[in-house]
Amino acid sequence: MITLKNVNKTYKTKSGEVVAVKDVNLEVGKGEIFGIIGYSGAGKSTMVRLFNGLEKPTSGDVVVADNNIGHIKGEQLRKARQEIGMIFQHFNLLWSRTVRDNISFPLEIAGVPKKERQKRAEELIKLVGLEGREKAYPSQLSGGQKQRVGIARALANNPKVLLCDEATSALDPQTTDSILDLLVDINKKLGLTIVLITHEMHVIRKICHRVAVMESGNIVEHGEVLEVFRNP
Ligand code: ADP
Ligand code: ADP
Repeated sequence: MITLKNVNKTYKTKSGEVVAVKDVNLEVGKGEIFGIIGYSGAGKSTMVRLFNGLEKPTSGDVVVADNNIGHIKGEQLRKARQEIGMIFQHFNLLWSRTVRDNISFPLEIAGVPKKERQKRAEELIKLVGLEGREKAYPSQLSGGQKQRVGIARALANNPKVLLCDEATSALDPQTTDSILDLLVDINKKLGLTIVLITHEMHVIRKICHRVAVMESGNIVEHGEVLEVFRNP
């Protein structure tokens, strides 16, 4: 579902070049829950921006759902990006819109007719367990509920990949666990490929099948979670 081949990303700054991602090779299979873990500065955010086409690799290929995302632009890139749903640490909800309208917003943008939007929103609300909260505004929701809205919105256009960028880092441990359970549930129900970027070991251990450990732009270790994090 995702292939990174010899990917390098260098930023040009006033004081010279910063290598953020260095010769990364990676394969994420369809239906897999894959984790990328690393400390601050390891290159995780750059990886997120490479996956969703916000940055182009300096060299190499980033292929997501059969689209070579670093090498396309315009309408093609816009289409390719619809295959990738994203959720964020701070949810990025629209604060003046209700739960239902936040969730159907991507459908509105895609030009889906109102009746169909409403039907799809109802399905998504059920999927993420927000029945009864359709008319609430984000400010009336708990952190966990806000992230449920974020997940439903990310799934509105039926993406092939869900990219989670520190999606539980603002949540308490109990809420984190309930969101991770929801992600597993969605992975099983929809066969959705999930890539999770985090600095939290617990998150990786709890739901990921495989993991890549990043340090200074390199993947220093990758494999089955139990292998990579085995106790000595
Ligand atoms: P992480 O998300 O793991 O904290 P980043 O991808 O943000 O890592 O950063 C990796 C390296 O690239 C760091 O040294 C960071 O300072 C640098 N970097 C990130 N974004 C930029 C940018 N837009 N311009 C210049 N340097 C950047
Ligand atoms: P946390 O991630 O700690 O739960 P919040 O969910 O309260 O934080 O807020 C996430 C982000 O949205 C923050 O950057 C905050 O400033 C912004 N935000 C929160 N509530 C509102 C609001 N009612 N209107 C506009 N922005 C908001």
